[in-house]
Amino acid sequence: MNIPFNKPHLTGKEAHYMYQAVYDGKLSGNGKYTKLCQNFFEDRYGFRKAVLTTSGTDALEMCAMLCSLNPGDEVIVPSYTFVSTALAFLREGAKVVFGDSMTRNPNLDAEVLESLITPRTKVIVPVHYAGVACDMDAIMAIAEKYNLLVVEDAAQAIDGYYISPKTGERKALGGIGHLAAFSFHETKNVTAGGEGGLLVVNDERFIRRAEIIWEKGTNRAEFFRGEVNKYGWVDMGSSFLPAEINAAFLWAQLENLDEIQNKRKQLWDVYHTNLKILAEKGAFSLPDVPDYATNNAHMFYLVFPDIEKRTAFIKFLKENGVLSVFHYLALHKSLYYKDRHDGRELPECDRYTDCLVRLPMFFDLSIEQVEDICELIKSKYRI
Ligand SMILES: *Cc1c(COP(=O)(O)O)cnc(C)c1O
Repeated sequence: MNIPFNKPHLTGKEAHYMYQAVYDGKLSGNGKYTKLCQNFFEDRYGFRKAVLTTSGTDALEMCAMLCSLNPGDEVIVPSYTFVSTALAFLREGAKVVFGDSMTRNPNLDAEVLESLITPRTKVIVPVHYAGVACDMDAIMAIAEKYNLLVVEDAAQAIDGYYISPKTGERKALGGIGHLAAFSFHETKNVTAGGEGGLLVVNDERFIRRAEIIWEKGTNRAEFFRGEVNKYGWVDMGSSFLPAEINAAFLWAQLENLDEIQNKRKQLWDVYHTNLKILAEKGAFSLPDVPDYATNNAHMFYLVFPDIEKRTAFIKFLKENGVLSVFHYLALHKSLYYKDRHDGRELPECDRYTDCLVRLPMFFDLSIEQVEDICELIKSKYRI
């Protein structure tokens, strides 16, 4: 076997739409393809306002700017996440307070959340790890009780849903918090040609300012809608718009989203069905999808009992031509943040840092290849 960990999928239309974008002569951002993509998200998921960005990191930075933080304001972030989740808020002068993960999966533990809240707390940032929803009813209730903003890091969560156990209502991830960020990096389910992201504004109050921050601190968007007769510098901002060729690439992927998702879920199910027996025997645990969450098949991961077993597993797969990789190094122990961290132990984050491994998961994998990977894994455990 020779199976990489990830391979970006091409639907076939990407180059065509990029060519169209170029020859239409509208190269900069906020053109036809940007609008097609934004409308797609608003229509399909009911997002109040969707704004394409150059990356998921940029979308998080826009969220952080929109939160209007003062120095020393506190933002609660899981430690087991990508750097950008914390960095976006740190850049705004906030103090990042890391929360631990749940035992059942790497998402922020809503049960300990309340104990982290102080009078300086302003924002909670749940990360839907592997596209699996956090306990959003609990998180939104705490946010409401303490008057906090919720920014969903939905970077991995396209087409994922939260199903409220209380009301049975199904809500798209990214459509629950006040603000949300998605990523279209090449490692995500769909990509905008390598790098890209989306800011979602669900709270009306932030829409105008989001457009201004997006357009370098100007009210250019209002000008183009004919709402003002000249535009100028009105607020903070930066350049967060992707060029049209990136939006064109993304559009080709979004047009095929159902096909992409169906295939990924099929592959995920093959892993799950085949590896269940090893999980029952205690070799490792499988991804956890609570009843309140759906599975968007972003990732298939295993959690081993200890780091030695994980290291041996990765080595064994590699020797047999299959690339598997571990994931985050918990941020509270990172080189950059460890001296700033308040010293609390976050044992579940440490456990995922040491014990979690991700298996190959991409559209162009075949069912047979996944079956072969599962057979290989079973051969290691002589089953
Ligand atoms: C991918 C990812 C990001 C960053 O997105 P980019 O588009 O690479 O900037 C942020 N948070 C999480 C949880 C991610 O998985």
